[in-house]
Amino acid sequence: MNIETKLVQAGTKKDPATGSISTPIYQNATFEHPELGRSTGFDYSRTANPTRKALEEAIAILEEGNAGFAFSSGMAAITTVLFLFKSGDHIVISDDLYGGTYRLLEEIFVNYGISATYVDTSCISQVEEAIKEETVALFIETPTNPLMKITDLAAISKLAKENDLLTIVDNTFLTPFLQKPIQSGADIVIHSASKYIGGHNDVIGGLVVTATEELSAKVGRLQNSAGAILGPQDSWLLLRGLKTLAIRMERQQENAQKIAEWLEKHELVKSVYYPGLANHPGREIMEKQCSGFGAMISFEVTEVSIVADLLKNVNVISFAESLGGVESLITYPTTQTHADIPKEYREEKGVSDYLLRFSIGIENVQDLIADLNQAFQCSKQKIIHS
Ligand SMILES: *Cc1c(COP(=O)(O)O)cnc(C)c1O
Repeated sequence: MNIETKLVQAGTKKDPATGSISTPIYQNATFEHPELGRSTGFDYSRTANPTRKALEEAIAILEEGNAGFAFSSGMAAITTVLFLFKSGDHIVISDDLYGGTYRLLEEIFVNYGISATYVDTSCISQVEEAIKEETVALFIETPTNPLMKITDLAAISKLAKENDLLTIVDNTFLTPFLQKPIQSGADIVIHSASKYIGGHNDVIGGLVVTATEELSAKVGRLQNSAGAILGPQDSWLLLRGLKTLAIRMERQQENAQKIAEWLEKHELVKSVYYPGLANHPGREIMEKQCSGFGAMISFEVTEVSIVADLLKNVNVISFAESLGGVESLITYPTTQTHADIPKEYREEKGVSDYLLRFSIGIENVQDLIADLNQAFQCSKQKIIHS
């Protein structure tokens, strides 16, 4: 069955009592036992809830993994996965990454003796050099956030297996519709479902998919023990989001391609980072391991003053954090998503004060381009008059 169909079937016909097409929201904490020693399969909703279970089964099918787990946020999902490790353990992680993951490691897990080395994972030799005796896992974002660097997942997974390490992939930017890391050999896939999977900027959630029964048992135990589970209402919203993921993603990346090409030609734009552009260094790997280029674009403007003008003057596009929803959002990593990463480090990695990150929505692309154009025009007037 093709993934478009699998997506629409997420959580359908899960209620044998009524035949309800949409999974009911089981707003329920505890379940009655038929008799001593017997259970319906549900005891208490932290451990398992039917609505959450429908979502967890759906994401496991979509990522082609062994089991799925739903959490109260992407960060709760990442935190729970990091609980697999113990004091003294070390992980190698993409250096251009989600700011919250950096903060979690550097402000919290460091206190529990878990350390991380940040490298450009698009360069396999850098990853290889960073592996130490204590290393237990490679943690990859591809494309990276916000510079859209591409890591070869098959090469990373091979390196991990040779060194007895886990490969963990944050697949938030592409979703299983465009990239299935487990097929490339990854052990654990993580999502901030607040982004493309929810898709409407109206829910916070996280998902994890494990590749093997052994890992599923461990993550399941951690989910139940740490307890950062997703509630039934939000589980239902994510199931609903999944149903339209394919058509949203298709439209979003089609818009993104056109906008990236338009930005590339703009006189106030210095550089555009989008893997769908012909000259993008990661394009070949993208073509090998993904079925599309996604809908996230970062770009640098020619003068810092343009940033404030652009953010103030866009009308159709909103100046807001987050990404992946039907509404187009533009943000400034320097003061928003990446504010917790030290300035020198951030700039050394290429996240400069000129950089904007743009999540393309499903609007008519001409309206988005017109909106950008008028916002740039406001800057241009000022530059001419100054
Ligand atoms: C947003 C995001 C997260 C964190 O997810 P939340 O749902 O906001 O907790 C993690 N990784 C990436 C790549 C993200 O974009």
